[in-house]
Amino acid sequence: MSERIRFELGESDIPKFWYNINADSNIPPAPVLNPATKEPVTPEFLSVLFPMELIMQEISKERYIQIPEEVMEAYKLYRPTPLLRARRLEKALGTPAHIYYKYEGVSPVGSHKANTAIPQAFYNKVSGTHALTTETGAGQWGSALSMACGFYDLALEVYMVRVSYDQKPYRRFMMETFGAQVFASPTNLTNSGRSILAEHPDSPGSLGIAISEAVEMAVTSGGKKHYSLGSVLHHVLLHQSVIGEESLKQMDMAGEYPDVVIGCVGGGSNFAGIAMPFLRENLKNGQRTRLLAVEPTATPSLTRGIYAFDYGDTAKMAPIVKMHTLGHDFIPAAIHAGGLRYHGMAPTLCSLYDAGLIEATAVGQVEVFDAAQLFARSEGILPAPESSHAIRAAIDEALKAKETGEKKVILFNLSGHGHFDLFSYNRYTSGQLENYDYPEEAIATIRERLPVVNF
Ligand SMILES: *Cc1c(COP(=O)(O)O)cnc(C)c1O
Repeated sequence: MSERIRFELGESDIPKFWYNINADSNIPPAPVLNPATKEPVTPEFLSVLFPMELIMQEISKERYIQIPEEVMEAYKLYRPTPLLRARRLEKALGTPAHIYYKYEGVSPVGSHKANTAIPQAFYNKVSGTHALTTETGAGQWGSALSMACGFYDLALEVYMVRVSYDQKPYRRFMMETFGAQVFASPTNLTNSGRSILAEHPDSPGSLGIAISEAVEMAVTSGGKKHYSLGSVLHHVLLHQSVIGEESLKQMDMAGEYPDVVIGCVGGGSNFAGIAMPFLRENLKNGQRTRLLAVEPTATPSLTRGIYAFDYGDTAKMAPIVKMHTLGHDFIPAAIHAGGLRYHGMAPTLCSLYDAGLIEATAVGQVEVFDAAQLFARSEGILPAPESSHAIRAAIDEALKAKETGEKKVILFNLSGHGHFDLFSYNRYTSGQLENYDYPEEAIATIRERLPVVNF
């Protein structure tokens, strides 16, 4: 038993329900505001973007939401995902801590994003949608939604952040093979894109800009296209809860319970996915697991951003939500190679952070790639740079345990593999990466750029 490394579940262990933390957290959600009127959004406003089933999930108070049969069938292509004990990494660190990781990189597209792409495409299909629009940064979300749209015969337009479009052609080729149309954002196809290009013809793009373009294309389609988002929204976090539910069973198989659960955060979905079922156990069953979100020092929305209402996108097309934000016009530094570039954070997670139920930390990218390399050499998996933020924090926890001699149990989410991120790995191995802290002057002016609202 003590020698086991892999903890595998069978098909019948795939969760049949998504878990909704809002049923247990007792935190009333802040209103979501219409970007034009700055009044709470109406279902009609949201229904231009999303099918009704997803809108209902967004505001649901139900503790468990049944996963449709068709979605279960597609989940079986890669779920349950394995949970492993990183014994070789433990040995390399000389730590008494036990390090476990849940590996979501086994999904066909290489990340956890398939967990929400499949149900989002499914609900759109059954509500009569024929086409979707979306944005993608590093390309993981675009790949996942392209695959899912292929499953359900939906057309897909992907607005891909220009700098990634140039640096990651293979992600684009993958999306195109699944049948998606991919555009380098900013484009001159939308008002949002054209207004950015007018001022900055060489704009590298940002997630905020790409979201504006994808939302604009859906809003102006006369009901022909819906929009889909791969993180941040509550229904996305819900869908990701399968990660934590499986992990609970697998830790049980390992005969241990985590003292700390760690995930990287961009918009917050993979962290929420692994952490929320453990938060339920804290709230309902007296467990005391620490839940640690890890972000880059280059985009420190939780640790240094302002908790306020802000636009979800740069061109102010998307709803205004209450979140930790760096400002909707945020453009990430060109030197930053580690992903996780969104200016805001899932409102659900922000409210839990504000209430002290989860923790957050920020790490520099050189240390992140150091951790990725050590992990690859020990465990044989080349991790996504995003996921490597969680590896960094897990290693730091294990090194602290080495100092204190504590047999701490650490679980982190390995949200994806890095097989399409070799451009960034090359920058690291050739010594071109430097740490970058988001400047204090920029933090100081966030407040001036926020919308003025009455909530
Ligand atoms: C998109 C992505 C992330 C960041 O998004 P979250 O919504 O915060 O999970 C992290 N890891 C991988 C591999 C991703 O593709």
